[in-house]
Amino acid sequence: GTANHLVVSAPTGGTERGESALNWIHREHDLERGLGAGEFEPFFQPIVTIAGGELAGFEALARWRHPDRGLVPPCEFIDLGEKSGLIRQIDLAIMADACALLRRTAGDRPLPFLSVNLSSQHFTDMDVVTGLAERLAMTGFPADRLKVELTETALVHDPHQAYEVMCRIKDLGVTLALDDFGTGYSSLSYLHKFPFDVLKIDQSFVRALGEVGRTHHIVETIITLARRMGMEVVAEGVETADLIRPLRELGCTFGQGYHYSRPVPADVMGGMLDRPIASRE
Ligand code: C2E
Ligand code: MG
Ligand code: MG
Ligand code: MG
Repeated sequence: GTANHLVVSAPTGGTERGESALNWIHREHDLERGLGAGEFEPFFQPIVTIAGGELAGFEALARWRHPDRGLVPPCEFIDLGEKSGLIRQIDLAIMADACALLRRTAGDRPLPFLSVNLSSQHFTDMDVVTGLAERLAMTGFPADRLKVELTETALVHDPHQAYEVMCRIKDLGVTLALDDFGTGYSSLSYLHKFPFDVLKIDQSFVRALGEVGRTHHIVETIITLARRMGMEVVAEGVETADLIRPLRELGCTFGQGYHYSRPVPADVMGGMLDRPIASRE
């Protein structure tokens, strides 16, 4: 989450939050340098079956291994990447590395699926389709094990264009996940207007399942609707074991969160392939 980190926004016309234009230019150059130097790497967070605690897949989450600043989380560079346009290259670099690392690590074992995040900027033109196809071919990662996560932000600006891009991505054999559902507008109409295969319920909703209140009914309705439409449902931000039972009762198939594991570097990810992540409930 972003709560513990200082998020610096790009100047829009002038400067915001006291950041000087010079500092901004410096940070943008540093991002470009880091990208060229291969300093971005994927961490892997397991996505697990709610019922059995078995590994189903991983979400790739970008980290910047900065020579001076150490390991930098996405909340400190995604914004800068989007304002500078470098996010497109960062996303595809993370996707390609994650595909290669997961495929190599799995070896002859069954290949877990891989879920990657794409900025809404990719959904304004078709470049991302060839970008993904090239990297799938390059890494030999099977398209049907790849999922692309996008948020509703990608859909609001030009829904028709976004729809076309999504269909071309699906033509590759890749599946689509709607990320962070429960934040923003979270219009239910997105679920039937766009060809999503997976719904990811935001951690704010999931956390509220542990509290008294009506969230239970809202989450239940969303899960039921998604399941009826043939979508898989992933609960994000499963931090504690007590959330497992309500999630299972509500018909949620997959969970992701600190209860199972934090995002881990590639060498640690390998150790998760052979054993259950959590004990059976
Ligand atoms: P996201 O795609 O919704 O990813 C889930 C975020 O929730 C991750 O934060 C993950 O570490 C965090 N998380 C997972 N389980 C828990 C939990 O139990 N409790 C809490 N409090 N947090 C949990 P992270 O890695 O800092 O990434 C933040 C966001 O940055 C991501 O949210 C995604 O929107 C964006 N992001 C990350 N990697 C990429 C990337 O390669 N490309 C793009 N465009 N965006 C990315
Ligand atoms: Mg995501
Ligand atoms: Mg999310
Ligand atoms: Mg998010």
